[in-house]
Amino acid sequence: MFNAEVNRALISAADLINTAGGLKSAKTTPDVLDSVEGLKAFLAQREPELEWPSSKATRKQLEKVRELREALHRVWQSAPITKPEELALINDLLEGVGTRLVPAEEGETAFRERPIPVSDQISDLITATVAAALAHLVTRDETSRLRICRGDDCEAAIVDLTRNRSKLFCDYGNCANRAHVRAYRARQAAKRNGRTNDAAGSPESSAPRLTKPSAAEKADQLNRPTSASAIAAKEFRDRMRAELMDKRQKKAKK
Ligand SMILES: [Zn+2]
Repeated sequence: MFNAEVNRALISAADLINTAGGLKSAKTTPDVLDSVEGLKAFLAQREPELEWPSSKATRKQLEKVRELREALHRVWQSAPITKPEELALINDLLEGVGTRLVPAEEGETAFRERPIPVSDQISDLITATVAAALAHLVTRDETSRLRICRGDDCEAAIVDLTRNRSKLFCDYGNCANRAHVRAYRARQAAKRNGRTNDAAGSPESSAPRLTKPSAAEKADQLNRPTSASAIAAKEFRDRMRAELMDKRQKKAKK
């Protein structure tokens, strides 16, 4: 979505947030950064282009990286960043980070900005890379792409790098699928209730609910899209609707 460096930094930042213990797709996960070994493993799994060597992991750096993780979590929770006072979260990370210009790896421009970290300690390397990427998003009004998974019982941080801003769920489990099933059941329930009201007296609607599918459910199943493109189109519509509802809720909160 953005340039390769920014994409990479944002994905790694979300991964860092997700190393914290908590709920991911209805499963409790442990804190991965509970030891220097844990930090080393996290760094070893990063893309080599980030240049975050696992050899730089120390006890002291572990504490610093954990603090950074907290700060990034707050950024994700605050996104989209729309108020000047919310900028402090990112400005704190940018404190002391410099910029130099280097040739770009790929993309539309020949050159790009590269952050200069405060020191070569691993926490400072991560901070500089991620803070620069966040600044890139803020100045382009794209922080709404920093999200918390919309799934039930899920706290995973995600970055939406899709062109149509359609990523709402994490990849830790089956959050998207569970949400679709829930939405489907809610539609079914609404349908049943509607039918009970306007078709009172018919044996099926007045009888207590049994396990046998109703005529309406069967009809709905027949109407469900079967081809891959139809399913994709339906999923896209559902996502757009969910996103719109979310925006409205966020607005209402403000
Ligand atoms: Zn999730």
